[in-house]
Formats: sequence, C-alpha cells, structure tokens
Amino acid sequence: MTLLLILVITLAVLIGVTPIRRALISAPVFKVFKKILPPLSETEQQAMEAGDVWWDGELFKGKPDWQQLHQYPKPKLNEDEQAFMDEQVETLLAMLDDYDIVQNKRDLPEQVWDYLKQEGFFAMIIPKSYGGRGFSAIANSTIVSRIASRSLTAAVTVMVPNSLGPGELLMHYGTDQQKDYWLPRLADGRDVPCFALTGPEAGSDAGGIPDTGVICRGEFEGKEVIGIRLNWDKRYITLSPVATVLGLAFKMFDPDALLGDKKEIGITCALIPTSHPGVEIGDRHFPMGMAFMNGTTYGKDVFIPLDWIIGGPDYAGRGWRMLVECLSAGRGISLPALATATGHLASRMTGAYSYVRQQFGLSIGKFEGVQEAFARIGGLTYGLEAMRVMTAGAIDLKLSPGVVTAIAKYHMTEMSRTVLNDAFDIHAGRAIQLGPKNYLAHGYMGVPISITVEGANILTRNLMIFGQGATRCHPYVLAELQAAANPDTDEGLKQFDGLLLRHVGFALGNTFSCLWQGLTAAAFNKSPMAGETARYYKQLSRMSRALALTADISMLMLGGDLKRKEMLSARLGDVLSHLYMASAVLKFYEDNGRQQADLPFVHYNLQRSLAEIGRAFDGFFANFPARAVAVVLKRLIFPFGIGYKMPADDICMDICDALSKPGVIRDRLTHLCYLGKGEQDPTGLMEQAFVEMHQAQPQLKAILLAQRDGKISRKVPMEQAITEAEAAGIVTAEQAEQLHHMNKLRFEAISVDSFKPGQL
Ligand SMILES: Cc1cc2nc3c(=O)[nH]c(=O)nc-3n(C[C@H](O)[C@H](O)[C@H](O)COP(=O)(O)OP(=O)(O)OC[C@H]3O[C@@H](n4cnc5c(N)ncnc54)[C@H](O)[C@@H]3O)c2cc1C
Repeated sequence: MTLLLILVITLAVLIGVTPIRRALISAPVFKVFKKILPPLSETEQQAMEAGDVWWDGELFKGKPDWQQLHQYPKPKLNEDEQAFMDEQVETLLAMLDDYDIVQNKRDLPEQVWDYLKQEGFFAMIIPKSYGGRGFSAIANSTIVSRIASRSLTAAVTVMVPNSLGPGELLMHYGTDQQKDYWLPRLADGRDVPCFALTGPEAGSDAGGIPDTGVICRGEFEGKEVIGIRLNWDKRYITLSPVATVLGLAFKMFDPDALLGDKKEIGITCALIPTSHPGVEIGDRHFPMGMAFMNGTTYGKDVFIPLDWIIGGPDYAGRGWRMLVECLSAGRGISLPALATATGHLASRMTGAYSYVRQQFGLSIGKFEGVQEAFARIGGLTYGLEAMRVMTAGAIDLKLSPGVVTAIAKYHMTEMSRTVLNDAFDIHAGRAIQLGPKNYLAHGYMGVPISITVEGANILTRNLMIFGQGATRCHPYVLAELQAAANPDTDEGLKQFDGLLLRHVGFALGNTFSCLWQGLTAAAFNKSPMAGETARYYKQLSRMSRALALTADISMLMLGGDLKRKEMLSARLGDVLSHLYMASAVLKFYEDNGRQQADLPFVHYNLQRSLAEIGRAFDGFFANFPARAVAVVLKRLIFPFGIGYKMPADDICMDICDALSKPGVIRDRLTHLCYLGKGEQDPTGLMEQAFVEMHQAQPQLKAILLAQRDGKISRKVPMEQAITEAEAAGIVTAEQAEQLHHMNKLRFEAISVDSFKPGQL
C-alpha cells in the first residue's frame, strides 16, 4: 500500500510539476523525436503545410463528429449554372462527334473551339467581374462530367484552363495589374493558357525541375531592366500546341545579389506570352490517341521582366507552395469529374446493352456472372458520384483540402478503371471494335491518362495520402514537427512539452477505446442516424479509432523509416481513404432524402469500404516489422477477427435490377450520361433499343408462349417470329409494326462498325 502511494506520488510529481516533467521526460523524448524525424526537404515541408484539413481531420482524430459531416451544405448548382448546363452544355454536346474528333480530325472542329471560347467554357472559374462565368466547383465538376460522358477530348480541353494553371494562379496570387490584363483575355478566349511544370528529368519529382531563371540585367521594350534569363525544356504540356500564354515553373537564382542576399530563391511561376521572342512551342504529343492538345515547349536564354512573375517579385520562390495549394482544383474537381462520367456512362449503357444483348436465349444481364461485374459498375458509380459531390463541396467552402483531394484523385481514377474494365468485359466484342458506334473505347483509352496526371497514382497512394494525412490530419504531429524544427531549442522544447502530454493522453484513450469497441463490436457507439445505416456509423467510428492508434504506433516505432516503408503507409492511407469514401456515401444518401431505392447502393459501398479497411489492416499487421507489436495491436483492435465482408450477392442483384429497367432511379443515378438525340446517336440508339424492348415485353412473352405451344415456329429469327405471330393473331398489326421497329433497333444496337477495304 505504501509502495503504491509512493508510486502514485512520484508519477504525479513527474507529470504534474512542469520543470521536473520537462527535464526528465519531455527533453529526452524531444531529443529522440528530433533524431527519428523524417528528414523533410523544403519542398516537402511546404507541401505539408499548404492546404487545409477538413473532414479528413475528423477521421484521423479517432472520434468523427458525424453531425458536422451532415451539416456541411449540400452542394448544388445555382440557377445560372443550371441554365448553362441546359443550354450551352447541351448545344456543345450536340456538336461533338467523338469518333470523328479522335480518329479523323485529331482535333476539335474549329466551330467547337470557337463555341468553347465564345461561351466562356474556358472561364468557368474566372469571376464575373473579369468577364468569366464565376461558377462554383460543383458546377465546374458537373459540366466537365457531362462533357466527358460524350467526349474525353472535349472534357480535357475544357477542364485544363479551369484547373491548376494561369487562371487559378492569377486569381489567388496575381497582382491587380496582372489580373486586370490577363483575366478578361482568358475569359473571352482571346488567350488560351497552358501550364508547364513537367520536363524530361522531372515528372513526379516536380520539385526537382532543372529549368532555371537567373536574375540579371537585360533589355525589355527598349530599356535596360532587371529581369530573369530563362532556360526550360518541358514536355507533356496540355494545350501547349495552341497556347498563347504559357505559365512556366522554374527554379530561380540570384547569383549577383541583384534582389537581395539570397542566391537560391526557389521555384517560381511566371506568365509569358508565347509570342515573346525565344519562346518555342515544340512538337505535339499524341497521348493514347486522344485528340486534346498536348506537347512540348522550350526556351533558351529567354529574357523576361520581373513583373511577369505571377504575384510579382514578392512571390519569387513561392511557386511550390502556390502550386500545391492550387492542386486541389485538378485533383478534387477535374479528375473526379472524368471518373464519375465514365461511371454514369458505363452504368447506363451496360444496363441497356446487357438487356438488349441475348445469348443462350436470354438477355446476358440475367447471367449471374454478368451481374457480378455489373453490380460492381453500379455500386462504384454511386460511390463515385458521392465522392465527386462531397469533394467539390469542400472546395466550394473555399478550402484547399490537400488530403481529401489526393484521396479523390487516386481512388476515383482507380474506380473508373475498374468500372471501364467491367463494362468492356460485359460489352465484349461490342466494345472492342472501334467506330462511331463505340461509346466506350475512347474512355477506356483515356484511363491511363487520368491515372498519370496531377500526381501519378502509385505516388499519390503510397506517398501522399498517408504521408500528408498523418502529419496534416493528426491532431498533434504537425505541431510536434514544427516544435522540433524550431531553431530556438528551448522554445521548441516548451511547445513540445505541452503537446507530448496531450499526445500521450490521446494515444492511451485510443488504446482503451479500441479494445472496448473491439470487444463490444462497437455496439455502444453512437450513430447520428437511425435505421439501416446506423451500424455503419458505429463501425466507421471504431475504424477511425483504430487508424488513430495504428498511425501513432507506427510513427513511434518506425519514425522516419515510415516514409520509405511505402507499402505499409499506403495501407494506412487506404484506411483513411475508405473512411472518407464511406462518409461521402452516407452524406450523399442523407442529402438526397434517404431514398429507399438507394439502399442497395449504400450497403454495397459501405460494406465494400469496411471490407477494404479490414484488408488494409490485415496486410499492415502481417507486414509490420515489429512482430510482437503487430500481433498485440491486431488482437486489441480485432479481438474476434476482422470480420468485415464484401457485399453479399443479394445486394449485387438489387443493384442490377435497379439499373436494368427504365425508370427514375436509373435516370437519377446516371444523370451525367449524355444520350444524344435519338437513334442517330450511339448512346441514344442503345437507350432507345433498351426502352422499346422493355415496352415490348408483354408481346414478346405472348410470342414465346405461342412458340412453346407450337402455334408458331420455334428457333427462328425474331423478325420471322413477329410476322408469324401477327398472322396467327397473337399480336395486332400495330403491335407487330412496333415489334419490327424494336427488333431493327435491337439489331443495330448490338451491331458494330465495319469498314470497306481501303477505307481505313
Ligand atoms: C496526357 C498528359 C497531360 C499532362 N499535362 C501536363 C500539363 O499540362 N502540365 C504539366 O506540367 N504536366 C503535365 N503532365 C505531366 C504529368 O503530371 C506527369 O506525367 C506526372 O507527374 C508523372 O510524371 P512521369 O510521367 O514523368 O512519371 P514518373 O515521375 O517517371 O513516374 C513513374 C512511376 O513512378 C512512380 N513514382 C515516382 N516517384 C515515386 C515515389 N516516390 N513513390 C512511389 N512511386 C513513385 C509514379 O507513380 C509512376 O507510377 C501531363 C502528363 C500527361 C501524360
């Protein structure tokens, strides 16, 4: 008893008396912490600090406030934006013949370029005061999505000026003079922008660009001024072949100390008219056969004035941070928009095709093997739409959420790859033969582009999501890193001391909570909603705790090594990502009025996300180098095993059922898919064949019955069966005419293009 008392008093003194605690606990831990700190380059540090933490912060804290999730406003288009969708976007879509664009012209027709410029498609993000459209992120996303369901080439052409590039950078950092000059010109299409960061030696490692800008004196407009002598060699630059203004990223140096005493100033962004002497727009690339403009640019000893730096000379050296802060638009709006478009197109068309196409006397959609793949398309498409809307909504809150946009970029482009693979498998030869009737092939060919741009996917998953997530979203780690990096060691220790105590409390709380939630299967967790989704909130809260604890343990055990252990950290990133995805689906379901018809899609996504979370943890524990710790941790979090399962077959069948018949659910869940103007259009044709075949069901059943009863011939082509059925009085003349029309459409819908000898 006395011993226990002495122990408690000693502990109380150690923890409670600040100078003693600081000297005996915090100082040694601080020393170790500084030693194991992952060495951060300046660019990594800037990337780490840039952008905002949003719902990802809640997920990382271990106790997400679900009420807060549901309080974020439901993103929706305003009247102007909806009118633009209904008029300009529909007009544009009717002008696009994607086969001709990609396979013949290898460019958008001139009247399409003119229409895009004239109607402000390139100026969706530019404020109205500068002549732009001033649209929200959700409108930008919805417009790009809808265009992408028709033509990837047109969608990429529209999305690039509205993503990371001159427009976005000018609006955030431009001087008034720069904004007044450039923004109206970009808004009305007088100027077409591109942005050049990537070069032959620097792709993913964009911070390592070898392109230079040296401060020197030179002549500009007849006068000697201080300016920058630029040398660059860039590739893969979208719109570069047609650009009239080049946004250029380069490393700036001031060897003669003309601006100050700093010789290496750092990455800087400038805006240069492509007509400026020395600017070379090089050759055009041909990315996966797509027809959007993409190419090279280079320049040797090109002199520009200092005030062409975006933001003016004050922003010299701040380019990396500017780029990282603005990356959210591309990652959070444009690429998710493309991915969702493929989902809507694939869901709608695969549902139609698998009904229209018959083999073994049945629509192929009746075969369970096809249903399994089709359910994946439908289920993932619901998840894509939920994430598209939620992520655009975050950007509309005027945030720049780096982690959730990286999650959206990686997972949504991967999901679209899965969706397109499945759609291809189900369409089989119908998707493979290129020609005007093929509505899937160009999207499929474009998938690797989305996977590669704006942070290639392997890098995004393995390095960015968790690497950035762990430091940015963790309640204490970023502050601890900043304390450790404080050049004033005493001040750093003081900050660290305050954080350490809270961090230890946080970790202990998570440990007990994980064990409790594991033992009780989270039954006592609170859910903000009653009904069928309640259990998911409880499990997600549990997994959020598990992530918080595992992240802490792995950072403690591996320190700086965790950065190199990409296979491990990526799995924790997957946990965070699936928590985000699942949150988006729950919010989408609530925001859309908890529709009963959505439930199979909600179950599919939530069960899939929980199963993926389980799989990620399992892989993490199996490979964590400190084996004893891994075993204890796994037992603590999952005392009775992991237990999460992929969606059951009946959920998959419900999804297929909802998407295999015409109706409001199918219309709502595939609203971004353009259907063209009737039978002359490839998607319109498939849709119409599908609708007419559904309408003809009672007559088709009557014909089948008559065939079984031997009243008319069996195993004859459908056309003959209809004619015989009319003659036998099984269908009326009017019905027979409709059936013949349906049958003609059906046959055209399953047909593919072919070309005469020499035509190709
Ligand atoms: C069609 C198209 C359009 C583009 N448009 C533009 C544009 O307008 N402006 C512009 O500046 N750039 C543009 N890019 C460039 C694009 O951003 C780069 O292609 C991208 O950054 C990847 O660089 P890379 O292709 O050189 O691949 P690499 O950097 O060589 O990467 C190769 C592979 O290694 C992986 N990898 C690299 N480092 C790591 C790491 N640390 N951990 C794990 N994996 C890693 C990558 O994920 C990738 O899988 C475009 C590219 C394409 C293809």
